[in-house]
Amino acid sequence: MNNIFAVAIDGPAGAGKSTIARELSKKLGVIYVDTGAMYRAMALYLIREGISSGDSEGISKKCETADISIRFENGEQQVVLNGENVNGLIRTEEVGLMASFSSPNPDVRKKLVELQRKLASEKSVVMDGRDIGTVVLPDAKVKIYLTASSKVRAKRRFDELSAKGEKCDMDQIEADIVKRDEQDMNRAISPLKQADDAILVDTSDMTIDEVQKKLMDIVSEKTGVNA
Ligand code: C5P
Repeated sequence: MNNIFAVAIDGPAGAGKSTIARELSKKLGVIYVDTGAMYRAMALYLIREGISSGDSEGISKKCETADISIRFENGEQQVVLNGENVNGLIRTEEVGLMASFSSPNPDVRKKLVELQRKLASEKSVVMDGRDIGTVVLPDAKVKIYLTASSKVRAKRRFDELSAKGEKCDMDQIEADIVKRDEQDMNRAISPLKQADDAILVDTSDMTIDEVQKKLMDIVSEKTGVNA
């Protein structure tokens, strides 16, 4: 028996999953796998290929020629799309929305879930996404469902974009978040939902440090690993 373990963190857009998961992985000394970035890389490819969000046949066909892999540079995940590091190109609202439209496609999911399972079979991981605890790693030792109200999530996104000097509108951001939640929670395949054995953490009224501590406590209790 090997002693690698997985921490699965699921939840809606903007709940703080990636910030928290990245820190947690550093503390635990394991790799952080951001599965949303893989769906975003696929979405970027589809946009570049001129595929429209409603063209499911086109998405199924085109995704065959997208070679998506990840590598780590200074501990940070880099997503590579057909040989090109696209990390700096996938964090736009346009790509996020296209990811949300194309991610329900079974061919897209099959390809990316395979990659995610392979990574988790080789090394201990903190992996975040929408279906990690329910579908990708149902046997994960630790499962957390991280959420926050749509208002709080919109405010966090607004602050993040404003800090980068991007002009943005809070109501528009919240509307996009609500739209994405609806798409992610109501799709037929791998909808976003809390796994039966996941622990719910609502971060609406918590600071990052508080969330971090709470998750570390949960991980220590479930795995016996202390940071
Ligand atoms: O987490 P992030 O916002 O980067 O994800 C972008 C989109 O990718 C999500 O809105 C969701 O539709 C999709 N996704 C998914 N399954 C995952 C991770 C992300 O369907 N495990």
